[in-house]
Amino acid sequence: ERMVTGELQHDEDSDERSLRPANLSQYIGQQKVKENLSIFIQAARMREEALDHVLLYGPPGLGKTTLASIIANEMGVQFRSTSGPAIERSGDLAAILSSLEPGDVLFIDEIHRLPRSVEEILYPAMEDFFLDIVIGTGPSARSVRIDLPPFTLVGATTRAGLLSAPLRDRFGVMSRLDFYDPDALCEIVGRTAAIFETAITNDASAEIARRSRGTPRIANRLLKRVRDISQVKGEHQVSLSTTTHALGMLQVDEQGLDHIDHMLLTGIIDGFQGGPVGLDTIAATIGEESQTIEDVYEPYLLQIGFIQRTPRGRLATSKAYQHLGLKKDDG
Ligand code: ADP
Repeated sequence: ERMVTGELQHDEDSDERSLRPANLSQYIGQQKVKENLSIFIQAARMREEALDHVLLYGPPGLGKTTLASIIANEMGVQFRSTSGPAIERSGDLAAILSSLEPGDVLFIDEIHRLPRSVEEILYPAMEDFFLDIVIGTGPSARSVRIDLPPFTLVGATTRAGLLSAPLRDRFGVMSRLDFYDPDALCEIVGRTAAIFETAITNDASAEIARRSRGTPRIANRLLKRVRDISQVKGEHQVSLSTTTHALGMLQVDEQGLDHIDHMLLTGIIDGFQGGPVGLDTIAATIGEESQTIEDVYEPYLLQIGFIQRTPRGRLATSKAYQHLGLKKDDG
């Protein structure tokens, strides 16, 4: 499985729960988002109302689910969680919505993947807190209205643009999560190490942070692997040299790139003279889906300036050539 993906992997569930910060003050980084949310939460609490619906968007592993559960904690309400692909029929969503208590937070991960028919029953639920359900078929079909308690929908998606306009318009708060800077990530590594009761030097934490693609989930994952190797070596404290060695073994390079990133970059460079080349063409060349490339692989490469998006497709920059030890041929 891929070391440096921000997506949750199958064996990571239990760690996720123990590592998840419980309130805003423990949530590291994302200053602007935290400041805004903290004001909205305080105001809603003062008015004794449910918080406005919140859309969180950004690449996987940046803390959207965590923030949603923090919102519930800070509001003093229950947190209920589901995902777009898990809700197949409108009845599934109706069952969840009608079981909510006043003020509860309902978190829908990958909300852009809700089936269209389900999405439509969400509109009146979000706007006026009722469900319009059609019972039966043919001439005997009738529509029943079910009132809902006021609740807060927190939706998460990788890009806000993936949502249909009517759904997007029903969120009062839209917050984009950005990649974390190395200092914030270093703090996250330190916090996770403390939870694991693992001693680690500052320079080792900083090294893990640097190679974690601005993503807390990756930082936590790399720390776990590095800790294993350090432990087997009998270290009392995770050292920089072990960290560097371990990350090398895991084939995570100095910038946090792995063989898939290398394949993507060399695909553009060798196959298309550095581009520009269309996303679908790159996808076909390396055998990946365009959307996975766009949402998972590419955002960090864009962030560190290794590729550029142009109207004619993706372009590998001279930084990318340099990093791969290649020469850019301008001829
Ligand atoms: P997403 O929902 O965006 O994919 P998660 O909320 O599941 O991401 O976060 C991934 C992991 O990173 C979790 O284990 C979480 O505890 C940790 N994490 C995310 N953001 C932060 C943060 N700001 N401070 C500390 N840990 C964080």
